[in-house]
Amino acid sequence: MSFQRPKGTNDILPGESEKWQFVEETARLLFRDYQYNEIRTPIFEHYEVIARSVGDTTDIVSKEMYDFYDKGERHVTLRPEGTAPIVRSFVENKLFGPEHTKPFKTFYMGPMFRYERPQKGRLRQFHQIGVEAFGSDNPATDVESMVMALDFFKQLGITQIRLVINSLGDKETRQAYRQALIDYLVPFEAELSEDSQRRLHENPLRVLDSKDKRDQKFVAQAPSILDYLSEEAQKHFDTVIAMLDALDISYEIDSNMVRGLDYYTHTIFEIMSDAPKMGAQATICAGGRYDNLVEELGGPQTPGFGFAMGIERLLLTMEAEEVVIPAFNSLDAYVVALGEETNIEALKIVQAIRDFGFSADRDFMGRKAKAQFKTADKANAKLVLVIGGDELANQTINVKAMRSRKEKSFSLQEIYEHFDEVYDEMTLFIEQEEE
Ligand code: ATP
Ligand code: MG
Repeated sequence: MSFQRPKGTNDILPGESEKWQFVEETARLLFRDYQYNEIRTPIFEHYEVIARSVGDTTDIVSKEMYDFYDKGERHVTLRPEGTAPIVRSFVENKLFGPEHTKPFKTFYMGPMFRYERPQKGRLRQFHQIGVEAFGSDNPATDVESMVMALDFFKQLGITQIRLVINSLGDKETRQAYRQALIDYLVPFEAELSEDSQRRLHENPLRVLDSKDKRDQKFVAQAPSILDYLSEEAQKHFDTVIAMLDALDISYEIDSNMVRGLDYYTHTIFEIMSDAPKMGAQATICAGGRYDNLVEELGGPQTPGFGFAMGIERLLLTMEAEEVVIPAFNSLDAYVVALGEETNIEALKIVQAIRDFGFSADRDFMGRKAKAQFKTADKANAKLVLVIGGDELANQTINVKAMRSRKEKSFSLQEIYEHFDEVYDEMTLFIEQEEE
């Protein structure tokens, strides 16, 4: 009998997990610079939290939820996205209170779950890094967030990207546009995909998001939401554009862009990868403003702006662009222990080196010297310390600097009491050689 991981999930193995750590570390450092702090919410939520925020008629809620009834008959779901849980947490923990800095800026990272048809860059368990800023309706918040996302990609070494923006306006805008869109689409109703026929009356803006070829030719000719912006919505969007221009950020406006979630208002954006090979999964970051969501989940009227990035797609983009990830896994010292009688001493030496704050490892398999040296080499060890029966009897150890091939014998006492000095002495030599 053999077991396999569930369809649409991945094991992230060593070799790959270093890349994940690099992406996550880069995000944490950058977000700190922009004053975003982390919130960790549970992996599952009450079904209603997601249904209410994301919208009943969205694909996410209508077909992609991993929802179930728990043993206490509670309707719960694995989270399909990060914003709804964060907003729920913001409201529940009263993070809008006077003791909190405004805007309240927070980030999250972790697994999300959607029952989708798995393909490249589309999984059932995938991972997102996202940010949210609560309490500012200033267009500068929209722009700062988008710039932070661009900054993040720059720091990762991703360059072939494009910022695409649009405005969904306010409630007034949407009502006017909704009607215009229905009027435009109804004559073609029979020619639309089944999904879009259903969406047309439930939630016509969703038709614009259709990936079905039958819909796309009608979508291309559809009226533009930008012609229906209320005065206030127009002013907000104009300011966003003026600010992007002031920062010399290039962008495209796509008036047909809507997002897969219902809660957005005003500015929405996507960052697309132009790297060949990304195909239909080219959206690596998406987000926008949601000025009614906090209220929707029971909080005081509080504007919000946020975005989410899919880590899997981010890594595919880095691969497509052949970004080289800095190696951060070299080893300071490897102890080659020869003969069973050195087993205890090797254990003590490795532990002593670690107590000095260095990274260290040793052989555990009783292998021959050659095999142990090979392991040290593979681990990129800077120093190799060799101890055999003779050295043990003399209470000495042989230290080799791998790159310079310098070799010197030290007493065990020197290792235990002054390994930091031994390390400096032996590696200083490497640096001099390299100059
Ligand atoms: P798509 O149109 O590709 O289905 P979406 O509109 O459903 O995307 P969002 O809900 O806005 O995506 O999520 C933000 C980001 O999360 C996406 O841009 C993508 O990078 C990533 N993402 C979304 N769904 C998946 C998935 N099933 N597998 C991997 N990454 C995903
Ligand atoms: Mg989707």
